[in-house]
Amino acid sequence: MRVLGIETSCDETGVALYDSERGLLADALFSQIDLHRIYGGVVPELASRDHVKRLIPLLREVFAAAGVAEGEVDGVAYTAGPGLVGALLVGGACAKAMAFAWGVPALGVHHMEGHLLAPMLEEQPPEFPFVALLVSGGHTQLVRVDGIGRYQLLGESLDDAAGEAFDKTAKLMGLPYPGGPEIARLAQAGTPGRFVFPRPMTDRPGLDFSFSGLKTAVLNTWQQCQAADDASEQTRSDIARAFELAVVETLTIKCRRALKATGLKRLVIAGGVSANRELRHSLGKMAAGLKGELFYARPAFCTDNGAMIAYAGCQRLLAGQQDQAGIQARARWPMEELVPLNA
Ligand code: ATP
Ligand code: MG
Ligand code: FE
Repeated sequence: MRVLGIETSCDETGVALYDSERGLLADALFSQIDLHRIYGGVVPELASRDHVKRLIPLLREVFAAAGVAEGEVDGVAYTAGPGLVGALLVGGACAKAMAFAWGVPALGVHHMEGHLLAPMLEEQPPEFPFVALLVSGGHTQLVRVDGIGRYQLLGESLDDAAGEAFDKTAKLMGLPYPGGPEIARLAQAGTPGRFVFPRPMTDRPGLDFSFSGLKTAVLNTWQQCQAADDASEQTRSDIARAFELAVVETLTIKCRRALKATGLKRLVIAGGVSANRELRHSLGKMAAGLKGELFYARPAFCTDNGAMIAYAGCQRLLAGQQDQAGIQARARWPMEELVPLNA
């Protein structure tokens, strides 16, 4: 089965073609980062309008790159939520219109299920069951995954998501949006141990997270440095390093706990923050220590992309699922509401 996937939940327009027999045929992405940068974050209305502009050229590009005639697909999958409703509606309307014109089924896909399954596009995909750490701009969740649609939430952030913490911390030090890659870059030049930030909620049992206090700790430190006339690039790097280490260690402690609590050996990380090299390194070491294994997607498939939506949609369309009439677009959508696949 050949499926066209469309992602427009936030500030990336992603389009891809996935074939259940041949794998990923082509994918293309337009990131609106430059459009939103001057505002320091995503402006929803600008995002929606830009998706309108980018979708058709990306669709043409993907069909051409795959060597597939336009419309030669068995289904169209689109991100139906969670995300910005206006942005979701652009992808949803486009997907439904094309599916109708081509006489094939359409299916609204859960954005976080897309992220979660992105590592399946790699050469050595994880087998079920596994523990997944979803770390993105809007989510920080530990999930027990027994199959597609079989998700049990083990823990989540009570306030800021991990990616959001990176973005807000970067912003308060005057770094551009999105902050994750900026902090990671600066941290490489940081002096180890000059600053130490807390590892929130690691001293009590449970698998929930809290990152907003960490951001406040950075703010206090940064303001003290500024007051002491020490707001140099090196100081920024030193803070970035301490912040990144605090996040990485906190996530590692909780992932270790989740593996031990479930008795599972496989850990999958997904979402934008899973592109972070220090996080991959730390979790890889931890998993190996438990005789387990870590899985993740290539960096381009950690952040938003069309390939993950084409893949997730294909699995569900293969199982016979499809949309009823109307475009699905949900700002909020708990992953546990998803229908399990019995395959
Ligand atoms: P969600 O998927 O929860 O709806 P989103 O789609 O905005 O949110 P993603 O696209 O998965 O999130 O990821 C973007 C986030 O990942 C941003 O917060 C960004 O700062 C962060 N990020 C990207 N690369 C890195 C990195 N190397 N280190 C840390 N964070 C990173
Ligand atoms: Mg994004
Ligand atoms: Fe995302």
